Order: sequence, then structure tokens, then C-alpha cells
Amino acid sequence: IERLRGRLSKSRSALGQGLLGLLGAGDLDEDSWEEIEDTLLVADLGASTTTEIVERLREELSVRGVRTPEDARTALRDVLIQTLTPDADRAVRALPHDVDGAKQPAVVLVAGVNGTGKTTTTGKLARVLVAQGRQVLLGAADTFRAAAADQLETWSQRVGAEVVRGKEGADPASVAFDAVKRGVDSGVDAVLVDTAGRLHTKTGLMDELGKVKRVVEKQAKVDEVLLVLDATTGQNGLAQARVFSEVVDVTGVVLTKLDGTAKGGIVFQVQRELGVPVKLVGLGEGPDDLAPFEPSAFVDALLG
Ligand code: GDP
Repeated sequence: IERLRGRLSKSRSALGQGLLGLLGAGDLDEDSWEEIEDTLLVADLGASTTTEIVERLREELSVRGVRTPEDARTALRDVLIQTLTPDADRAVRALPHDVDGAKQPAVVLVAGVNGTGKTTTTGKLARVLVAQGRQVLLGAADTFRAAAADQLETWSQRVGAEVVRGKEGADPASVAFDAVKRGVDSGVDAVLVDTAGRLHTKTGLMDELGKVKRVVEKQAKVDEVLLVLDATTGQNGLAQARVFSEVVDVTGVVLTKLDGTAKGGIVFQVQRELGVPVKLVGLGEGPDDLAPFEPSAFVDALLG
């Protein structure tokens, strides 16, 4: 939690400390509530989530008869955690399957617009799984960004995972197919596929990502489609996410670059807007900077 606090320092001072300061000041008049609302909006919680939080908070404070700053803090903590859907299933499904007595790898597709941190996230996730003793194979199906396959290969060496890559400009679906086939043949535990992330047109994306998924499903079940969103892109990121989730069944969101932004409030909107839980958060560029998302730890770090 100390580490999380450090990484969230920008959001913590803008959002957490901002709210605590306003709430702790004692009697809250309409001006104070407006300031609370502004603080939430500036931190990118969006209009409807902000309204909901303010309403709940007002109600909690009056029902509980809150008097001290400490009581106010507890009420705020509870309301924020509740907004994050604390009981959502956030486990990344990366366990192999038993299919007719043979081991079949879990398949995880990692999707997102280029620049969001997709390749980095794929590498970091591989590292987490390898550290748990799993055998991982990486598929470099982002064939449109020239450096992506090299970058993934570097990760593969760093974490100790095999990589399957295609020629530059190769069809992403064929690389994904080859990677999953290799994974099935060699009996690894999980295949993580870094997919192409162009969002020129919705149709283009639909063709690419939809095709990747369909082709991969000829070989093995797709367990997860993780959508990588850059937390610093705010409402634009959410708009992207809506397009993605219309194209494929997104099963979880990875929110990256939370370390560099005061707008960490986007976390509070994702599940409400998309109906998909945030499963992982990116907290830096380093290999260990990927963490499972836990609402209470997140809120405690924000308010800490
Ligand atoms: P892709 O185009 O989506 O595959 O993006 P990359 O994986 O190449 O990442 C783009 C940039 O974002 C790189 O410089 C990464 O190091 C950086 N990055 C990725 N995740 C995080 C994160 O959680 N925090 C920070 N600060 N940077 C990140």
C-alpha cells in the first residue's frame, strides 16, 4: 500500500487530499458541495459518477450524523469503495484447461489503441505469470507498429517466455493463430497475444480484432480479452473503450499510467460505463509495475 500511495501521489494530492480537506472543514454549505463536485470532475470522474458520489456522500453524512473529520473520512472511504463495485470478479483467467485429458493453454488477448501501453502490459503480465511458475508464450500480433514485435521479444527474453512473431506487415490474425497453435502444441500454460491497435475506423478495428478472436478460437478457448486504457486520456479513453467493447466481448480493463496523472478518477467510471471490471493497473514503466486492482487498497492509497 505504501508503494501504491507513492505511485498515486498526483491523484492523491488532487483528489484524495482535496476531498478530505473540504470535508474536514466542518459545516458544509452549498459552496463547499460545489467545490467537492469540482474536485471530482477535475479528477476525471465524469458528470454522472460525480453526481452519484455527491448524493451518496450527502446522504451518508446526514444519516450517520457525521461530526468529526475522521467520521467524514470514513463515510467518504465507504462511498468511494462502493462506487468501485467491490465485489466484481477481477481475477485474470490465465489457468490452462484440461481438454480430453490434454492440457490446453489459457488464451489472453491484449487489445487497445497504440500508445496506451499494450505491449508493455503484455510483457508485465507475462512476468507475473512466469513468477507464479507458469509457462507462458507471447504472440506478437501487433504487426502494424514496426517496433512492437521487437519490444515484445525484449520482454520475452527478460521474463523467460517464448515469443512467436510474424513478418512485418503480416496479417495479425495469422500471427495470433500461429502463436496459439504453438502454445497448444508445446503445452504451455498461457498464451498472451499482443494485438494490433489501430482505431482509424471502427470497421477496420472490427475486422482486425474480431478476426483475430475468431481465428484463435479455432484452436483454443479465449479466456480473456483485456482492454488496455491509458488513464491520462480521460473521457477519450472511455469513448475508445466503448468502441472496443462493441467489437469484442471485453472481459477486463487494464488501466495504465495511473502513476503519471492527477486524473485517476477515471477508475471510478470504467465499470459503470462499460460494465467491465478494472482487473489490473499500470503504475509505471518498470517490469514490476503492474498490480491487481483492489478497490479498498486503491481508495486507501488515495486517501492516505
Ligand atoms: P502500445 O503502443 O500500446 O503497445 O504501448 P507501449 O507498450 O509501447 O507503451 C507506450 C509507452 O507507455 C511506453 O513508453 C511505456 O513504457 C509507457 N507505459 C506503459 N505502461 C505504463 C504505466 O503504467 N505507467 C507509465 N508511466 N508508463 C507506461
